[in-house]
Parts: sequence; structure tokens; C-alpha cells
Amino acid sequence: MNDKPPSERPPSERPPSLRPEIWRSIPEEKWRDWRWQMAHRLTTVDDLRNVFPLNGTETDELTRCLQRFRMAIPPYFATVMALEGPGGPLWKQAVVSSAELEERPSLRLDPLNEEDDSPVHGLVHRYPDRVLLLVTDRCAMYCRHCTRRRFAGSRERDTSRVQLDRCLDYLKRHPEVRDVIVSGGDPLTLTDAKLDEILARLRAIPSVEIIRLGSRLPITLPYRVTDDLCRMLEKYHPIFMNIHANHPDELTPEVREACDKLTRAGIPLGSQTVLLKGINDDPNTLKRLFQKLLTFRVKPYYLYHCDPAQGTAHLRTPISRGMELIEYLMGHTSGLAVPTYVVDAPHGAGKIPVMPNYMLTTFPGGAVLRNFEGMLVRYVENGEVPQDQIPAGVMGVAALALGAQEALAPAGMPRELRRLREGPRARMHRERITEKPQPETSDLFTEAPE
Ligand code: SF4
Repeated sequence: MNDKPPSERPPSERPPSLRPEIWRSIPEEKWRDWRWQMAHRLTTVDDLRNVFPLNGTETDELTRCLQRFRMAIPPYFATVMALEGPGGPLWKQAVVSSAELEERPSLRLDPLNEEDDSPVHGLVHRYPDRVLLLVTDRCAMYCRHCTRRRFAGSRERDTSRVQLDRCLDYLKRHPEVRDVIVSGGDPLTLTDAKLDEILARLRAIPSVEIIRLGSRLPITLPYRVTDDLCRMLEKYHPIFMNIHANHPDELTPEVREACDKLTRAGIPLGSQTVLLKGINDDPNTLKRLFQKLLTFRVKPYYLYHCDPAQGTAHLRTPISRGMELIEYLMGHTSGLAVPTYVVDAPHGAGKIPVMPNYMLTTFPGGAVLRNFEGMLVRYVENGEVPQDQIPAGVMGVAALALGAQEALAPAGMPRELRRLREGPRARMHRERITEKPQPETSDLFTEAPE
């Protein structure tokens, strides 16, 4: 008998009875067909009502919001939402809410000024050697925090051939571009054939070394990652993929299977997470998310501060919250599980890493550094201070900078207590009391008889 909870079981062991009632009779093969999933996304209040109980007020609110905003939720994702329950972190990312109607002068339609850095429609050239190529405006799900909500889902169409030709011509004329991020919308909503053609044309441009795909489908519709897709992608290495996971509940066995297929196809995976108020802005949720991503062989790459896009005020945290969370993660879990926290700055200034300050001060030939435990250390690059130049009575950070002291550790630091309990001195003490007297020469070093 399988003793794992149903939500944790591998997809092949998850019975259709776990699905909401309306989808229980759908044959497994159809259920796992990403085209069927795309065609049956929940886009209206009635669609939602078929899956989730909604009262009159909620129905009215959703109806009002859907006159302004797009919503689309694949049945797969709605099923994961249903396991968690309405109003949970996945629901908040997927379902429109009246909070999106709030307008503020600081919120913008194009918060990153992408249009200003778009020399050709469908291409953003902001950084020296890389560009963003927008190949469609369609996504499987329309995320409530989307930076490109001005554009995502506006027509549910792929970039036209004429437009694509213009973008590729631009790349040919700009050999300094060596890295192309294929995005949208979501490039994995394209058919294999269309994506194949775009990748082949990109690969035919000698200056394009790296191709990156930015996709949320491995999370919102993992059935899109088919063996055929992986075989096609493999032809165009080096291909990288950044997926977009925001909450540990998104990391289902289906997502694990999709990530596994992609990594087996030799595609390194990273995750871009958006910091979202009430969804993932607490230390434990983020730590669980990043640690679980690593077990899926996905490197947490960026933690994005939520961009000031219109309709997202209720999902944005202050930057100080992001800093606190990074402070909580850095050193407290493996560095592999700590992404770079970035603010994508307005006026097209691009991604700016924002990190807690670990360098407290500098002095000629060195610096005073702080570690995650709050321990302060003097780091000397070269030279030593002659003892007679150290002022008397100096203390604190100044003592470290001036060379009067080498390190300051907080009282009761857990690692210090562990050293006391289990460090070499404690170990020697334990061994003295517990171990029987040993023969003078251990077996290991006894010479074998001739
Ligand atoms: S998948 Fe990406 S582009 Fe599409 S709505 Fe979500 S955040 Fe926006």
C-alpha cells in the first residue's frame, strides 16, 4: 500500500478521484495532453464555479474584475489549487481579485520601460550582449503579479513571421549579442514545430552562443514537457531554461517529472521567483521552496522584487522585507539554495542586486566583515599594523579595523556552544572517560608479518 499522501504520490499513482468532480471522467491520456489542458483552461466565473464553491459576493467581485483583466488557469493547476483550498497561495497567484483595480501613481503599465529598449517590435535589447525575444503573448496561466500584463494574453497569438524576421535580422546585424532569452508570454505554449523553427533560425546566427528559454509551463502545466519536446530542444544546445516557481506547493510530482525530463535532456534549470506579499514573503516558505527546487535539480537563480506593474499593489512587499529574507537564508542554508535578490529598476536601469551588507568597513590592506551569525572578523589582505600604532582602549568595529582585535563573536553563538559540547576538546575529554585503554600500536599501523 502507498502510505504517501495523494498529493505527494508520483503522477502514475494519483487517481483521477483526486481531481475536482468535473474532470474525474477525463481519460488519463487526455488529462495529460497539454493541448487538452490549454483548451480547457478556466477563464470565466462559471468555469471557476464548476470547480470551487463561490458565494454571491465572490461571484459579483470576480465578474467585475474579469471585465478588466484576463484570467486563465489550466485544469492541472486548478487541481493543485483545489488540494490547497480556495484563497491559498496558489489561488492568489491565479485568480483575479478586486485588489487589482487599485490604481497608484507609482504603478505602471510598462514598469521596466521595456518598450524604450525595443529597437524592433518583439525584441528588448537592454544589456550589452543579450536580448529578450518575445515569441508569443500567450501563457498557460495569467499570473496576477505579471510584469508584462499589458501584453501577456492580449491577443493570445504568436509573434508573426514578419515580426520574427525583423527580430532575427536585428540579431544578424548585432553580433555583440551572444545570449538570446526566448520569452513572451510563454514560449512553451508554441507548438513543437514552431519552436523548432525559431530555435533553428537562432542557431543559424553564428554570434548567438547561448539560448535561454523563460517558461512557467513546467510549473503551471508540466504535461507540456513531453519526450518529443525534449528531443527537439536537445538539438540546439547549449540551451538553458529558467522556470518560475513561487511557492513550495507548486512543486508537485508532475513538476518533478517535467524537471527530470528537461535535466536528462541536458538542459540546466534555474528558477526565477517573485517575492509576493501573502504568498511567499516568509522565511520558512522561501526556504522550503528553494530547498525543494534543488531536490528537483533546479537552481534558485533570482528572487525578484515584485515589479510595480499596474494591478499588483496588494502583492508587493517593501525592499526591506526581501533583505530580511535573504539575511535569513544566507548562511542558514546551502548557498546553492540562495538566489540573488534583484530589483528590476524603473527607467530601464535593469536588474540591480540588493544584498544585506556583509562588509562593515575597510582599512588600508583589509576589511571588517560580518558573517551570518553576526560574528565580526578582521580580514587582512596584506601587511600588519605595528603594535605601537594601535590606540589604547579602542573597541568594537574600530578595534578590528585598527588591528587591536581579530574577531568579535556574539555571546551564546550556537556554533560556539556546539564547539564546547562536541569540539575537539570535548571529544578528547569524552574519549578519556569512555574509551578502554588501547594497545600501543593500532592494527592499522601494525606491519604485516614477513
Ligand atoms: S507566465 Fe510569465 S509572462 Fe505569463 S502571465 Fe505568468 S509571469 Fe506573466
